[in-house]
Amino acid sequence: MENISVIGAGTMGNGIAHVFAQNGFKVSLIDVQQAQLDKALATIAKNLDRQIAKGTITDATKAATLSNISTFTSIEKGIENAALVVEAATENIDIKLKIFQQIDAHAPANAILASNTSSISITKIASVTKRPEKVIGMHFMNPVPIMKLVEIINGYSTHADVTNTIIALSTQLGKTPCVVNDYPGFIANRILMPMINEAIYSLYEGVANVESIDTIMKLGMAHPMGPLQLADFIGLDVCLSILEVLHKGLGNPKYAPCPLLINMVTAGKLGVKSGEGFYVYTPGSKELIVSNRFRH
Ligand code: NAD
Repeated sequence: MENISVIGAGTMGNGIAHVFAQNGFKVSLIDVQQAQLDKALATIAKNLDRQIAKGTITDATKAATLSNISTFTSIEKGIENAALVVEAATENIDIKLKIFQQIDAHAPANAILASNTSSISITKIASVTKRPEKVIGMHFMNPVPIMKLVEIINGYSTHADVTNTIIALSTQLGKTPCVVNDYPGFIANRILMPMINEAIYSLYEGVANVESIDTIMKLGMAHPMGPLQLADFIGLDVCLSILEVLHKGLGNPKYAPCPLLINMVTAGKLGVKSGEGFYVYTPGSKELIVSNRFRH
């Protein structure tokens, strides 16, 4: 397998393109917005510079990695030679179903079609293609060049050979693949999001304050980051929408999102990306300051 196409050049797409290109694959990076492609190439170059500064790669590896990436604003052109297409476009079911119909119609017949979705059913995505046995979830974690896990999701019809190819490929990228079945939230978010929701409920019910909740989970459970800080980092809107998928898809009230989370998203307090969530964020500052809203 030599040619990989990555659809969507946002946060995840640039990281996925980076990792494949650094491991010698020819990558076609595709986005509807030229500005996103330009930004992605600049981000990849900056992240490669960081790797050089750490001594983990050489200048020559940076040059080779960048030369392995071509950019496209047309899906048809960007996937015409693909052995694997990894879709990492906006988390919206209508957008993804449309993209998969398009890639199914234009990618080579043998190409494997993967989605990096965090919460949309792989079986549903596969159902709009004529090759459901070749559709699979390839769920990278953010930031992709650093995080070791790839959660591989078998749709209802995914063929075992396809799963084995994606396991081998993930290993070739220096990642650790874990295979799961296609149920709401898969494994990573099915376990992570109820923990985050419980942390928010604990705050909402006044059991403890923001610092105590995060410190208890950091020092007591050896988590690198407390659940409230992690929720801010992921985006509170993203956490809410994944909880809604779990709640609706599994039908169990234990997944109901905390009213405080719903209020914060409604108020536009989305975490790092909006400048405020459980903490406040100032560009350029790494200091962790609890939002005034949660100070007693
Ligand atoms: P993002 O908003 O940063 O980037 C999405 C990109 O997709 C944008 O550049 C947008 O222009 C592009 N796009 C939209 N429609 C398109 C189309 N029709 N064709 C081509 N490009 C199109 O989003 P992201 O955070 O990179 O998330 C991408 C996917 O990865 C989502 O499915 C998300 O659930 C998943 N994911 C995200 C994270 C995370 O931490 N951000 C982690 C794991 C998985």
